[in-house]
Amino acid sequence: MTDVKIPLDHPRAESLRTRERLIEHWNKGIVTTSGLIAHGRGEAFDYLLGEETTEPALKAIESAAAMLLTAEKAVISVNGNTAALASEEIVKLSQVTKASIEVNLFYRSFERELAIQKLLENAGAHEVLGIGEKASATIPELNSERRRVDPRGILAADVVLVPLEDGDRTEALVKMDKKVIAIDLNPLSRTAQKATITIVDNIIRAAPKLVKVAERLKKQGAEKCEQILLEFDNKKNLAQAITLMKENLSKIAEESQKHHERWWK
Ligand code: ATP
Repeated sequence: MTDVKIPLDHPRAESLRTRERLIEHWNKGIVTTSGLIAHGRGEAFDYLLGEETTEPALKAIESAAAMLLTAEKAVISVNGNTAALASEEIVKLSQVTKASIEVNLFYRSFERELAIQKLLENAGAHEVLGIGEKASATIPELNSERRRVDPRGILAADVVLVPLEDGDRTEALVKMDKKVIAIDLNPLSRTAQKATITIVDNIIRAAPKLVKVAERLKKQGAEKCEQILLEFDNKKNLAQAITLMKENLSKIAEESQKHHERWWK
């Protein structure tokens, strides 16, 4: 841990603890500097969401769990921020849904891959794909280091969960006929727009919920999962997330306006 003491009653204690966790993992070489910036972009959108899991997000979480459970081969792609913020939940989710875990990094180095692998193994993972030479296959049309994938993992998968992803890779995976589940606080990002299922929520809140829902749906069986997937419309769901943000902004604007009017009376 860093030596910063966050007062328990601080109104933004949870958000500050998350930042500390990212800084701690930045010090360990797991999170990159640009990962810290990406988190900041996410936080801004979380403000607009009211920092809570919304109804559309819950619906997307349910569909994501259904898709993971009915996949032939599901893979959870893990980057530095995901490892820092949700490694235990990622491991639990992989156990419930039988999905593989693969490390996939934009800023790839063997040391970083090993550090993330160790973190996931400490959280209970038995096997972590995509490390070093094992990422020997490539995603066509991608130039970044994220094009390198494991032939036993993302390359062979029909469903890929990509928390905190960049748009290029989402697009490339969709072009390869894979179903992509994204967790992204920004409903406007290319990832959010291109994914098959987009969970507009903070990974901190979404990941434990995804585990719980997957446990429940597993007991309910494949037919229930297929029904949920038939009824889910990602574009409609994204529109609802954006509308909620718009309504939150309108409320804040109205309150400011009222405050201004009271002041000038
Ligand atoms: P795109 O390439 O898809 O248009 P981008 O350029 O913003 O998006 P990145 O820079 O890779 O892509 O950023 C990752 C995304 O992760 C951002 O859209 C950000 O909103 C989101 N994000 C950051 N932190 C979190 C978090 N804790 N939970 C969920 N989403 C997050």
